[in-house]
Amino acid sequence: RIVFLNGSFIPYDEARIPIMDRGFLFADAIYEVSAVLDGELVDNEAHLSRLDRSLTEIGIASPYSHAEWVVRQVELVRRNRLVEGIVYIQVTRGVAERDFGFADAMSPTVVMFTQVKTILESRLAVAGAAVITVPDLRWARRDIKSVGLLAQVLAKRQAAEAGAAEAFMVEDGFVTEGGSSTAFIITQDGVIVTRPLSSDILPGITRLAVLRLAAEAGLRVEERAFTVQEALRAAEVFYTSASTFVAPVVSLDGQPIGSGRPGPHARKLRTLYIELARASGRD
Ligand code: PLP
Repeated sequence: RIVFLNGSFIPYDEARIPIMDRGFLFADAIYEVSAVLDGELVDNEAHLSRLDRSLTEIGIASPYSHAEWVVRQVELVRRNRLVEGIVYIQVTRGVAERDFGFADAMSPTVVMFTQVKTILESRLAVAGAAVITVPDLRWARRDIKSVGLLAQVLAKRQAAEAGAAEAFMVEDGFVTEGGSSTAFIITQDGVIVTRPLSSDILPGITRLAVLRLAAEAGLRVEERAFTVQEALRAAEVFYTSASTFVAPVVSLDGQPIGSGRPGPHARKLRTLYIELARASGRD
């Protein structure tokens, strides 16, 4: 397995990061994940734009241009012979003696690796996902794709203990988003609802693509917050992310959603997204 560390492609076993790395000590770092389908990156420009935005928001100069990132991502996919899975990028502020303050001229640590993942034939897509709700314990800048993911780690453990695939996080009665996904419902009269962008949620790249596909397919779309009660009464519930595409939800907190099987709109949107993903990879 080959990984990328600070400009070099090296075997995983040889990759070392100093213990004074601020990513390790302070979670002073951001990350990005692009899917790979048929060996090609999916909607990657949008992911690189969000990577730039995350870096800007925490004041790290982007180490590479988009074109430079892509060359490295493609090389990593090639060296690992990755057909289906993800490319993970992490940029930390760098290495310095532990201190909250930092110098302006630090050199960032850049890490990339690939992971094999079954996306197309995933069990979740066929059988649908069980989801639980948990309180959203995160900080107030969830629009930044920070590696400070402890709240999500604990939420996902709760989900796993309940036999669920994902946890929807709830604040003031409203669903913010999934632990690692964007949450959607489809109302009984067929309106697709998802929370509008703000610092409350990560601006999902898959979210944007799915909203566009839904509108093109003539479905009605509303960007507004929805409650857990509304989700329980919805015709369909689903979530989106780069690594799951569109995942139909069949139960929420143990109660069946709709028929208790993946709904027709979620299945249709999944099919449309897969077509789009394949097309984007061939660009
Ligand atoms: N929201 C959170 C908190 C996430 O961690 C993720 C992805 O990991 C998403 C939403 C979905 O974003 P994307 O569709 O860009 O993968």
